[in-house]
Amino acid sequence: MLADEKIWVHVYERPGSELVFVNLHDNENTCVEAAMLFLASHGGRLIELRHGRGREVVIRRAGRMYPFDPNRMFSIKGLRKSLAHFNDISDDDLDLASGFASEVIDLIAPTKGIPVIAIHNNSPGKLTIRDFMPGEWYGPDAQAVHTAPNRDPDDFFFTNSTWLYESLAGLDHNVALMAERPPDHGTLGNYINNLGGLYIIVEAEHGHIQEQTLMLEDLGSLLRNR
Ligand SMILES: [Zn+2]
Repeated sequence: MLADEKIWVHVYERPGSELVFVNLHDNENTCVEAAMLFLASHGGRLIELRHGRGREVVIRRAGRMYPFDPNRMFSIKGLRKSLAHFNDISDDDLDLASGFASEVIDLIAPTKGIPVIAIHNNSPGKLTIRDFMPGEWYGPDAQAVHTAPNRDPDDFFFTNSTWLYESLAGLDHNVALMAERPPDHGTLGNYINNLGGLYIIVEAEHGHIQEQTLMLEDLGSLLRNR
């Protein structure tokens, strides 16, 4: 509960693989479909937030809404900025939201050293691999970018592993490698990276079920062969 607001956190599990998939944005569903297909054939665990509000999670108190981006809740700095984007911040909201972030982290259980795969979808041209190039919006977050002219720029990977970056670039996927010291946005990637864990974003355009399924398959076999 975030005050009066109920958030469901669904956990799907199937034996066969220890990979953990995380879907933080409730309005991004192609990635969930693709992850379910992956689980059906290889196993793994999928953690999915559900609340019906769209991208942002909402704290609801006395009929008022205090939204924040669940992919900014993994540090106080990110959370403050995200809450302040919509409303004035109160200590109660910060406590509630960071408590919620801890519960999600407990479900992910990243200390086990298992790769954490964040799955996302985007709208055409809104967020692309090109945004990780130097001078662009997420330029400071990346130290290397491989663009694949034969693929849709909306379909890309982002990882903190040099080995995975090179392997995915070798398969000619769009992929960016996280900076050595990326800015603290309070993302799940920041959090896992600070723990020293392996982190991968698999992002595809809404409706790109075939593309995203293939991306997960390629990633899965790279991790298996490793
Ligand atoms: Zn997302």
